[in-house]
Amino acid sequence: MTHLTLTCQCGACEIEVLDSSVRYRAECLCFDCRQRAMISSGMGNLKAFPESLANYSCGSDILYFANLLRVSEQTKAKLEFRKLRESGSNVTTYARCCGTIMLSAHPAYDGKSITVFPDNCRISQSLVDVPTNAYLFALDFPQEKFRELKMHGLIPAIFSGDESLDAVELPKFMAAAQAAIDEIWLAQPHTTYEALYADVQIVVSDDLFADSRQQY
Ligand SMILES: [Zn+2]
Ligand SMILES: [Zn+2]
Repeated sequence: MTHLTLTCQCGACEIEVLDSSVRYRAECLCFDCRQRAMISSGMGNLKAFPESLANYSCGSDILYFANLLRVSEQTKAKLEFRKLRESGSNVTTYARCCGTIMLSAHPAYDGKSITVFPDNCRISQSLVDVPTNAYLFALDFPQEKFRELKMHGLIPAIFSGDESLDAVELPKFMAAAQAAIDEIWLAQPHTTYEALYADVQIVVSDDLFADSRQQY
């Protein structure tokens, strides 16, 4: 049972994820992930928005882990918590030092999972043996580009959050994201993602909305 360390691109922020087992891996094709990557790039993260994302050759690689964290006070002081819109539910954490997206979560995960963008931050674990389970939010992606992606393999797609469209894979995804956390881990000293920002003002900013929806 090994822990996973998430590090920002400049090395000043480190977050420990206690349970390093990947619950689910997705390639997210949604506009909001694209917008968050552009914001990260604008805050200084040179890895955040590569050509492959810009020209819709791929989406954002996302890993789901159990919501069990250890964060030093030093790192906590450097974190910025953001939502794209007041009505938005997803809270994303950026390292102010270099713009890296450290982690993120949506209330639909029921407090059980956090998400990590391994192409945006640095992670202490190889992912070569971790298969991608699904494409997420394929409805947002230019359909011609989506057809090109699909030619690479037989990865299922979730088109929206609507069960009538996604009767097969959406329930599997939700089951993984909402899976109970093992008692063994809960017994160890830890904090949760939601506790990290419970007393902090969340920045609401829809920066780069139009740019992120532009097709190149
Ligand atoms: Zn940094
Ligand atoms: Zn997304």
